[in-house]
Amino acid sequence: MKTPNLVEARKRTKNPVEVLTDNYKLTEELKKLGLNKAYFIKTYGCQMNEHDTENIKAILEDMNFHEVDKMEDADLILLNTCAIRENAHNKVFGMIGRIKHLKETKPHTIAGICGCMAQEEVVVDEILNKYNWLDIVFGTHNIHNLPNILATSLAKKELEIEVLSIEGDVIENIPVKRDSLYKAWINIMYGCDKFCTYCIVPYTRGKQRSRMPEFIIEEAQNLVNEGYQEITLLGQNVNAYGKDLDINYCMENLLEDVAKTGINRIRFVTSHPWDFTDKMIEVIKNNDNIMPYIHLPIQSGSNKILKLMGRRYSRESYLELYNKIKLAIPNVSITTDIIVGFPGETEEDFEETLDIVNSCKFDSAFTFIFSKRFGTPAAKMVDDVSLEIKNKRLQELNELVNNYSNLANQKYLNKIVPVLLEGSSEKGENTLFGYTDTMKMVNVKTDKTNIGKIVNVKITDVKTWSLDGEICN
Ligand code: SF4
Repeated sequence: MKTPNLVEARKRTKNPVEVLTDNYKLTEELKKLGLNKAYFIKTYGCQMNEHDTENIKAILEDMNFHEVDKMEDADLILLNTCAIRENAHNKVFGMIGRIKHLKETKPHTIAGICGCMAQEEVVVDEILNKYNWLDIVFGTHNIHNLPNILATSLAKKELEIEVLSIEGDVIENIPVKRDSLYKAWINIMYGCDKFCTYCIVPYTRGKQRSRMPEFIIEEAQNLVNEGYQEITLLGQNVNAYGKDLDINYCMENLLEDVAKTGINRIRFVTSHPWDFTDKMIEVIKNNDNIMPYIHLPIQSGSNKILKLMGRRYSRESYLELYNKIKLAIPNVSITTDIIVGFPGETEEDFEETLDIVNSCKFDSAFTFIFSKRFGTPAAKMVDDVSLEIKNKRLQELNELVNNYSNLANQKYLNKIVPVLLEGSSEKGENTLFGYTDTMKMVNVKTDKTNIGKIVNVKITDVKTWSLDGEICN
């Protein structure tokens, strides 16, 4: 049993990162473990977690498990969890309660949790105290070892925990079962060294480790050869890609090289304003297959709060970068993240956040109330904003943000835009949904034969969060 340790998770050394190309191995015995057995996996949180789930699914299918859509039909239930906010945390414990009931009627069901919550010392302590009827718990550094963890738990008939609090390596041979035939995620780096004071990610995902470019480019080229239309390059802070490598190669080089593979669409998330270079802006501007869409979290418009958050930029430098991007790439859409009610946020600080939203007129924003994460510096700050005020600020911010989302969408009326059609829309029969190059969701009346194609769409109606359109030749 290996359990997480907050002090170890916080450590950063100069030890080199190992690139491991043969760490994932399956014996013939492990391959038989899932024969005639079904698995169900539920994923919480960000795209990084969604992509980890694609790895977990491929590993389970290598072991001959098959996927089912309903938890009740599964022999193995896994929750791939998110630690970023308290409500995600509560949802997972709610689900664990449901699984307990199921296990009472089907005692042979194997149940486990993985992902970021599994990396938290407090969560694993709680599991050991209250939920030790679970079968497996494994962390973000242990995905490749899932077959052995499962086999150990089954052999011992008890809870097996394998969570490492380490800086981490790069494991290159984990298989993947992609959810889409048209859009794919590629991890370009793991972990984060920014240590924003409210964020748990540097503790749950280890130090920043960039993958070597040749592995990323090969993965991208294979996706092009398989007919994929879109690649999203994933990392907690993609603009810092390569800074930990010793080869003088960074995000702009990678973007250029991935663009050369000929893939139709390239996206990347998430950007930290600190590492966004002029050269990157140039590369995005000069390559038609790098999409004019940037998610650029601001978090607060107040310099005092940005400092308390440890964000390393000011509202002035953010605005300078924002305007530079807008000037260089006129059709770009920019979205953001904003936290309200951070410890110490006064009415004046909040007004400054509203003010920067008025200046930037973001295409949209993900807005959140500050959520205390145990072990982070912000959790020790005095949380002096009442819940009532936090809710009031969130509502006021959302009204403003929605207003600008609507205005940004209005500009699309009667325009013709390229849309990658992804699947059936909830908006009615014979309607598909897809996204523009600028990441606007569009509902289009057309048949399913167009799924997976990039088509030109004339926008006929505009709403706050989506557009309607029709295919035009
Ligand atoms: S850059 Fe992002 S992932 Fe890293 S600590 Fe800050 S908020 Fe968390």
